[in-house]
Amino acid sequence: MVDLDGLPLRADLRGQRPYGAPQLDVPVRLNVNENPYPPSAALVADLAAAVAAVGGSLNRYPDREARALRTALGAYLARQEGVTLPVEGLWAANGSNEVMLQLLQAFGGPGRCALGFAPTYSMYPDYCRDTFTRYVTVDREPDFGIDPDHAVAAVREHDPSVVLLASPNNPTGTALPLAVVEAVCAATRGVVVVDEAYAEFRRPGTPSALTLLADQPRLVVTRTMSKAFALAGARVGYLAASPAVVDAVRLVRLPYHLSAVTQAVAAAALARADELLAAVDALRAERDRLVTWLRDRGHDVADSDANFVLVGTFADRHAVWQGLLDRGVLVRETGPVGWLRVSVGTPTEMAAFRSALEEVTR
Ligand SMILES: *Cc1c(COP(=O)(O)O)cnc(C)c1O
Repeated sequence: MVDLDGLPLRADLRGQRPYGAPQLDVPVRLNVNENPYPPSAALVADLAAAVAAVGGSLNRYPDREARALRTALGAYLARQEGVTLPVEGLWAANGSNEVMLQLLQAFGGPGRCALGFAPTYSMYPDYCRDTFTRYVTVDREPDFGIDPDHAVAAVREHDPSVVLLASPNNPTGTALPLAVVEAVCAATRGVVVVDEAYAEFRRPGTPSALTLLADQPRLVVTRTMSKAFALAGARVGYLAASPAVVDAVRLVRLPYHLSAVTQAVAAAALARADELLAAVDALRAERDRLVTWLRDRGHDVADSDANFVLVGTFADRHAVWQGLLDRGVLVRETGPVGWLRVSVGTPTEMAAFRSALEEVTR
């Protein structure tokens, strides 16, 4: 037997731990922003039929360019967001995590840096580490927003080749005004990635950076089917950008990176987008109820355009996290010191969370 110390592991990976939100088997799991509503029986039947349809040709490699899926994603964005994008400006991969890694592989690298705005998504430093890109962060404002002047100053100081703007941001739920994205685009030579993993949950009147794509050739908007589409298990993410950005990503993607099964499953789910997005409306309403309930009890809650809320501040957040877990409710101990992140679940799950929190903080 050999342990890690006995292997020629890269020096920068020594002592590191794999990504690890706890996957605990408890009744109420509100810790990784999953959609609590499983696929309907009708969708499951469609998924099974879609897999059966490709099953007979799994001896062949899949369509490397995933053109049918990218076309379906374009149709979805046209219907949902009113933006028309050519298939050449869309790209899909195994979760938006893989999309992000591909972007860092293409646009990051040794001698380059990526700029993020903390607190933000915990995977950004990992993509940077894995692509030998230096990761620098500047702090968000006290309300977790980004001040355009501060962002422009940070861009001037660090000259990043990639700017990472999560909107709505994880773990704070904060969406960015388009003016921030435009100011950053104008200031940088790099590519500007707006990570819109939670876009479908945003409140009315909150814009999407998709509307800026026509005027911003170095802007990239990433999305996922993991959250709104309740398809985290299928691993499908995508991006919209100028065709040149897609050409760059095609240089670094592994051959046949997206399996024929994944492509078929994603397309079948997109065909039922309306059904899936109906649950999103319920979750947004549940989120707004949760924010009001928490504030009524004197907690600080960041405004949320996502399917989770950041609540604080607790003198001993670990004790609160543990107390909730002892009552069968798993939330996420993440974000700034003293705050906890709670995903929005079903009404029954949120009732369990509320009564557990009342007991723990009594
Ligand atoms: C959940 C999440 C993603 C999506 O990850 P997938 O790989 O598509 O499941 C991307 N960005 C942020 C900020 C997220 O929270």
